[in-house]
Amino acid sequence: MLTFGGCDPEPARPAAPAETAFAEARVRMVREQIAARGVTDGRVLAAMARVPRHEFVPAGQRNEAYEDWPLPIGHGQTISQPYIVAFMTAALAPKPGDRVLEIGTGSGYQAAVLSGLVAEVFTLEIVPPLARRAEADLQRLGYGNVRVRAGDGYLGWPEAAPFDAIIVTCAPDQVPQTLVDQLKVGGRMIIPVGRALGAQELYLLRKRPAGLETQAVLPVRFVPMVPGRPS
Ligand code: SAH
Repeated sequence: MLTFGGCDPEPARPAAPAETAFAEARVRMVREQIAARGVTDGRVLAAMARVPRHEFVPAGQRNEAYEDWPLPIGHGQTISQPYIVAFMTAALAPKPGDRVLEIGTGSGYQAAVLSGLVAEVFTLEIVPPLARRAEADLQRLGYGNVRVRAGDGYLGWPEAAPFDAIIVTCAPDQVPQTLVDQLKVGGRMIIPVGRALGAQELYLLRKRPAGLETQAVLPVRFVPMVPGRPS
């Protein structure tokens, strides 16, 4: 059970009213949209209750930050629905020592959620202004173990590979082999696959010594993973 406020007779510095309202909305979001739909990992639920999603959405839409839907973040892109973020994070089974690669930084919110659950997060975004804004927001909010790079997710992040886990938040037609190659044996990847809207499936891959184990876990709708420009 998550609660706010304690029984301190005189809290030294009470949170500003707006922050308190956001924190309450966040607890409601976790209970009604996430736990109620079957995400049970306590560390993931705590991370979702902690990360200020309203800091990652456009200022004019902060009042919708804890609602059950994605929101536009500019450049034709969106911040995913909170439930999907929680579901994908839980599917990765993040551990405190893990190094994780994210493809599709977007707002930086998913990276912030992962930040508290693992040792290091590397996140790639193909739209440079989005990468720059997410980097600035993550820095401002103190997510010091997240590294953001503007670049093409199809190439992965070879210097930091191999990763314990990879999370892809845009949809390619097929699982990119480069990313499979950058996953440790024993590692997990969660990735939406399929171009046609409405016909995408979220896959959980596990890299075993004998090969890749693939499990379809949820029908989803993500923006396409666009091919990078040949350099
Ligand atoms: N995880 C984000 C939401 C992702 S939206 C969040 O928490 O807000 C998907 C993002 O993937 C978009 O920002 C899009 O620009 C990016 N993207 C699409 N194709 C890509 C590619 N080839 N490499 C890296 N990022 C890509």
